[in-house]
Amino acid sequence: MAYDVVIVGGGPAGLNAALYLGRARRAVLLCDAGTPRNAAATHMHGYGSRDGIPPPEFRRISREQLQHYKNVEVRDTRVGSAEPYGGGFRVALGDGTTVEARRILVAVGMVDVMLDIPGYKELWGPSIFQCPFCHGWEVQDEAFGVLATEPAYLDYAIVVQGWSRDVTVFTHGSFTVPPEQRERLLHLGMRLEERKIRALHGKDGRLAEVELEDGTRVPRRILFSAPPQRQPELVTRLGLALDEQGYVKVNGVGETSLPGIFAAGDTTTRLQAAVMAASAGAVAGAMLNHGLAMEDADRSYTAATGKPPPAKQKPH
Ligand SMILES: Cc1cc2nc3c(=O)[nH]c(=O)nc-3n(C[C@H](O)[C@H](O)[C@H](O)COP(=O)(O)OP(=O)(O)OC[C@H]3O[C@@H](n4cnc5c(N)ncnc54)[C@H](O)[C@@H]3O)c2cc1C
Repeated sequence: MAYDVVIVGGGPAGLNAALYLGRARRAVLLCDAGTPRNAAATHMHGYGSRDGIPPPEFRRISREQLQHYKNVEVRDTRVGSAEPYGGGFRVALGDGTTVEARRILVAVGMVDVMLDIPGYKELWGPSIFQCPFCHGWEVQDEAFGVLATEPAYLDYAIVVQGWSRDVTVFTHGSFTVPPEQRERLLHLGMRLEERKIRALHGKDGRLAEVELEDGTRVPRRILFSAPPQRQPELVTRLGLALDEQGYVKVNGVGETSLPGIFAAGDTTTRLQAAVMAASAGAVAGAMLNHGLAMEDADRSYTAATGKPPPAKQKPH
């Protein structure tokens, strides 16, 4: 059987797209490899009606609700590749099977590349946060560090200061802070540390000290840091065009550079939060359904009348 849509990725983006497409009575297969970006987080914040929910519980409820739609199938498997086939795609799954689909939605998230600083990987999740909206409230007024590995992160430090006045900015020797930027940070009451970081030391599973290259130890409980990200392999394998920041290029409704392939969620943007990914998944789901409905209508009309389909309308 050919699916209308194979959704690759079972995070908020893929799950919400599945819900939309399921409710539109489409035959959907959602495949998930089980490596969500927020795997290191114990709680997920900022998602209306789900504030503070453990991420596995969020995914469990989402899947449970999908069970209501018998036209939606969920498999815990990785999608290995997809190639054009019969006007749609042939999709190879990690369990060795292949399926056919008319469309593909890539909702694979992003991979955070852990910095090569001892302790960073272990503390990512419990004490190192990327997003203050996600985890800032719970640790407000604690001793913060902000790892600014490029000048743009100096502004990020100013935003983070909204959650604690006790902020030390660490540049890790990555760049020279322009004098006017330095003056502004100091004026705002932040401390600036430009030496390289040698290690991050934890105590009871949380950050305790930032050790600098000369052995100086700066007590800090939280570190805000946005490590580099890379695309999951499938995106490269499919050959989807990326924007200048490395995210999958999509138009306003989720269409990628390749006809028939849509993308949604973190893989498409640096604006990364569960509710944003879910919203993008809903938009992509709705527009996938729109395209499929138009394609079916055109085919049926042409088959019956022998005429070409009417000119395309812009979706309202
Ligand atoms: C530590 C941490 C904490 C966070 N906390 C919050 C928070 O509190 N609140 C908030 O709103 N946001 C939070 N975020 C951000 C949030 O997790 C992401 O924005 C959100 O998960 C993005 O959803 P997504 O569906 O795009 O991707 P993901 O949730 O990452 O899901 C993508 C899925 O695709 C799967 N996949 C990848 N490749 C394949 C393949 N080839 N075949 C099949 N499946 C594949 C992956 O295994 C994964 O399950 C946090 C992020 C991190 C890193």
